[in-house]
Amino acid sequence: MQQVVVLGATGSIGTNTLDVMARHPGRFGLYAVTAATKVDAMVDICLKHRPRYAVMSDKRAALDLASRLAAAGALTEVLGGADMLAAIACAPEVDTVMAAIVGAAGLESCIAAARAGKRLLLANKEALVVGGDLFMHAVQEGGATLLPIDSEHSAVFQSLPDDRGQWDACIDKIILTASGGPFRDWDPVRLREVTPEQACAHPNWVMGQKISVDSATMMNKALEVIEARYLFGVLPSKIEVVIHPQSVIHSMVQFVDNSVVAQLGTPDMRGPIAYGLSWPQRIHTGATALNFASMSALTFSSSDSEINQRRYPGLRLAWECMAAAPGTTAVLNAANEVAVDAFLNRRIRFDQIHQVNLAALERVHPPSIGSLEDLMALDQQTRAVARDAMVTMTF
Ligand code: NAD
Ligand code: MG
Repeated sequence: MQQVVVLGATGSIGTNTLDVMARHPGRFGLYAVTAATKVDAMVDICLKHRPRYAVMSDKRAALDLASRLAAAGALTEVLGGADMLAAIACAPEVDTVMAAIVGAAGLESCIAAARAGKRLLLANKEALVVGGDLFMHAVQEGGATLLPIDSEHSAVFQSLPDDRGQWDACIDKIILTASGGPFRDWDPVRLREVTPEQACAHPNWVMGQKISVDSATMMNKALEVIEARYLFGVLPSKIEVVIHPQSVIHSMVQFVDNSVVAQLGTPDMRGPIAYGLSWPQRIHTGATALNFASMSALTFSSSDSEINQRRYPGLRLAWECMAAAPGTTAVLNAANEVAVDAFLNRRIRFDQIHQVNLAALERVHPPSIGSLEDLMALDQQTRAVARDAMVTMTF
């Protein structure tokens, strides 16, 4: 039995992971689940899935969860505190860690799991965008197996040869598909009117709030371009983004012979999650199959057209940050996390998210990064600068 920790179990990826695991009870054991504050959801998870441990990074929430589970007679042991996330991820009994915390908050536990040589299922793209080379070194040194969960990166991984040693010589281009989000047909001048409710209503996927807003600005795709660079070890110039509104082709690889291999499926995250859990085998996921006979069209357009550059001004920042000093992608991520949170709390407009990111990139000059502590300090410094930049913005 593969013993699994689900970091971020109450979220959209966490819920889907527990769903897939429950379909294969003899195959996966649930060692631990973690969450930040949602006690009600954790009580339900613990009663239904019976993990050995439940971690709440918020200590007060942990006390609340412990008393509610005790009252219900559940055997799950409750632990509290943000430091317990990394500790549980590298426990010796654990084989597999699903990294599904949102944002840089998941970085420390990802690095810990990587150093401990776990099978690391990476949904938490921000951790790789922030961690960059340091993250990849931890994977190498620890002998971890890093498997992508982001649907695009899972698609690329499924399209590539099994032997990683061949990747560099055979990849001509990685083509990431993007749905374009809810405003893909909007006149860019109207983007200043966008509400959090509109931004979170993604046309093809049901996801957490942060990634939904990122999909609407296409900062999600910018983060994914950076993620692809590290996961597949390709030059940034070999990564391209194409808009594909139907979200049927999850991404593609063009090889040096101009042959293209794509991975297709219905937009259901249980597909990539199950592949990460079962790789190199395949298992049932609960997702419905594609019906080609009823599919009217698969369409594509350039993410780089004049109108899309105005609609998604943040996309190009991926390449600009990768060309800049190491650490610049961590600056972009931290500023964006602060800006998205402010937008969701109605403190800035949708179109001001990009302005906050630009302001932080202009004002923060990353020092050389040697450790996780250096990265966390850069992250905190950028957050302060981003908050400062918002003070003078008129809503
Ligand atoms: P979500 O908001 O639904 O869930 C986030 C989870 O992280 C929750 O369990 C929450 O308790 C936990 N969490 C949040 N802040 C935390 C903190 N400071 N400390 C500890 N735990 C914390 O998010 P999601 O949509 O499931 O996304 C999770 C990650 O997966 C993100 O990085 C996202 O980009 C990535 N991802 C999501 C999808 C999707 O379909 N939802 C697809 C691809 C990639
Ligand atoms: Mg994705």
